[in-house]
Amino acid sequence: MMVVLLGPPGAGKGTHADAIRSGFGVPHVSTGDMLRAAIEAGTPSGRKAKELVERGELVPDDLMAEMVRDRLSDKDASTGFILDGYPRNLDQARDLDGMLATRGAALDRVLSLVVDDEEIVRRLSGRRTCEECGAPYHVVSAPPKIAGTCDRCGGPLAQRADDRPDVIEHRIAVYRAQTEPLVAFYRERGLLAEVDATGSLGAVRQRVVGALR
Ligand code: AMP
Repeated sequence: MMVVLLGPPGAGKGTHADAIRSGFGVPHVSTGDMLRAAIEAGTPSGRKAKELVERGELVPDDLMAEMVRDRLSDKDASTGFILDGYPRNLDQARDLDGMLATRGAALDRVLSLVVDDEEIVRRLSGRRTCEECGAPYHVVSAPPKIAGTCDRCGGPLAQRADDRPDVIEHRIAVYRAQTEPLVAFYRERGLLAEVDATGSLGAVRQRVVGALR
C-alpha cells in the first residue's frame, strides 16, 4: 500500500499516519521528522535545511528528493509506505512518480485531511512534542498528566520552533499556495480521498481507515 497523506500543518497527518502504520503494517515516512532529525544531528542536509524549516519555508526539491529516495529504498518500504509531508508541490509530486516508476510501482491512494485555518492555528499553537520519543500532546485537548512531561517516557515536552504564531501563519500560506494544488492534481488522477479531519481523534481515525479500505 503506497499512500500519500496531504493536509495543512496541524491537520493530524503525523498522528493518523502512525495509526495507519500500526493498522496496515507499512512504515510512516515523515519528511518533517527526517529533517528535524538531520538538523538535530547536524548533518550536511540538516545544516542546509535548518533556517528554512525554522522560517516555515520549503526546503529545496532536490534535497528532499534525495532524502525520500534513500528512505523509500529501505527494505521496510519495499512493499508500501505512508508518506507524510511529501510531496509538497507539483515538482515534488512528479519526482515521486519518477522514483516509484523506476521500481515499477505507483501510488495507490492520496488522502487529503481537511481542516480550516482557524482550527489549524488553535491546534498548532498548543502543540507540544516529547523531545525524547516524539509523542504528541496539546496543552488544551491532549495535555500530559504532569505539565511539561511525557506520559510515555518521562521526557521533556517542547514547542517546535516553527509552531510560533508568525511562522504558523506563513506555513499555512505556503501550504495553500504550493501544496494545495496537489489536491486537484491527484483528484484528476482518481487517487484522491478527502477526509474531514475535525472532531474527535477516534472519529477522524475511522474516516481515515475507511478511506483506505
Ligand atoms: P512538517 O513536520 O511536515 O510540518 O514539516 C516541517 C517543515 O519541514 C516544513 O515547514 C518545511 O520547512 C520542511 N519540509 C518538510 N517536508 C518538506 C518537503 N516535502 N519539501 C520541502 N520542505 C519540507
